Amino acid sequence: MSTGSTAEIREAVRALCKHFPGPYWRDLDRARAYPTEFVRALTEAGFLGVLIPDEYGGSGLALSAAATVLEEIHASGCNGGACHAQIYMMGTLLRHGSDEQKRRWLPKIASGEIRLQAFGVTEPTSGSDTLALRTTAVRQGDHFLVNGQKIWTSRAEHSDLMLLLARTTPQAELKERTDGLSVFLVDMRNALGAGLTIRPIRTMMNHATTEVFFENLAIPADSLVGDLGRGFHYILDGMNAERVLIAAECVGDGRWFIGKATAYARERRVFGRPIGQNQGIQFPLARAYAALRAADLAVRDAAARFESGARIGEEANIAKLLASEASWQAAEACVQTFGGFAFAEEYDIERKYREARLYQVAPVSTNLILAYLAEHVLDMPRAY
Ligand SMILES: Cc1cc2nc3c(=O)[nH]c(=O)nc-3n(C[C@H](O)[C@H](O)[C@H](O)COP(=O)(O)OP(=O)(O)OC[C@H]3O[C@@H](n4cnc5c(N)ncnc54)[C@H](O)[C@@H]3O)c2cc1C
Repeated sequence: MSTGSTAEIREAVRALCKHFPGPYWRDLDRARAYPTEFVRALTEAGFLGVLIPDEYGGSGLALSAAATVLEEIHASGCNGGACHAQIYMMGTLLRHGSDEQKRRWLPKIASGEIRLQAFGVTEPTSGSDTLALRTTAVRQGDHFLVNGQKIWTSRAEHSDLMLLLARTTPQAELKERTDGLSVFLVDMRNALGAGLTIRPIRTMMNHATTEVFFENLAIPADSLVGDLGRGFHYILDGMNAERVLIAAECVGDGRWFIGKATAYARERRVFGRPIGQNQGIQFPLARAYAALRAADLAVRDAAARFESGARIGEEANIAKLLASEASWQAAEACVQTFGGFAFAEEYDIERKYREARLYQVAPVSTNLILAYLAEHVLDMPRAY
């Protein structure tokens, strides 16, 4: 892929996305099918290995470059949800994986031979309360035995590896409530049918999400990433990067909605003049644009701080909050601008509208971001 300037990366992503126009996504959306060709094209162009160091065959670029890639995918009307996890999960493996794990997996992930797309954290009973998760991994000789269930494990059917968060110490035995969970890199190719079952969940938008069941699944002991019991801390690090990248996708969505709406507002004539001449049409778009610019600055700031090695809990959460709300504001203004035509599939607005709604709920719900800011930044009492 282009390792040049941000402008060159944007241009290269735009050029690739031109091969995947609205009808491609509409057909997949109808069938709830995975965008295999799109993901293959991104992999071959090197975009999914953007954060993998060049010694392992990746581009070795920084988080801001990955954010640019995902923003531009979304601004082009495409969707990075089918593959963004490969980019953001990389951090956990890079920071905490052993040299052996990196040598074994990273070159194959960079070349596309192996896909690391599945992230198994959320469970049906624990929900946002990650520390209450119940899936266990118990050491038995040279392997761990995994039992439990995950939900919303997106892309599991289209991934070879899963980054799994499981309990390795019972909650009652913990001194520190944030310890006791561990991260594993599970090779799903060996596990399917041998203790691992995947069931797709049909959702409001095309997202290839699933529920995953573990029944006495034996995984080799060397699947453990980093130290036993430190998994929650590792995942939190990665989640900040994830929030920045998801926020960048939201900025891309917002740009797409505003671009589409302003073009239409200039052309569509009702009562003998362009609808865009009415301030009732202009102002919601101008307001959404201002919100989007502010969100974009927050995303760039969070990425830059991350790259300088700072802890970015506050900045990553603010970027995700502002960007997911700004893209939704833009989506609303776009629907209102298009009137009835917004509801016709052929304009892609209803599809993007459904897709954009997700980001106020996942990967972290807005309330949980507000609770984080209230407690950890504004020093108010813990709410839960
Ligand atoms: C399409 C999709 C894809 C996903 N992909 C993945 C994935 O790949 N991997 C993965 O691990 N997870 C994934 N998720 C899960 C996602 O991260 C969770 O849905 C999200 O974190 C919210 O958790 P929950 O759905 O369990 O909601 P709950 O935790 O049940 O919360 C429900 C509502 O209550 C609110 N709430 C709960 N507690 C509080 C509180 N103390 N204060 C205020 N409000 C509160 C929440 O904010 C939310 O609005 C995905 C979800 C979806 C829908």
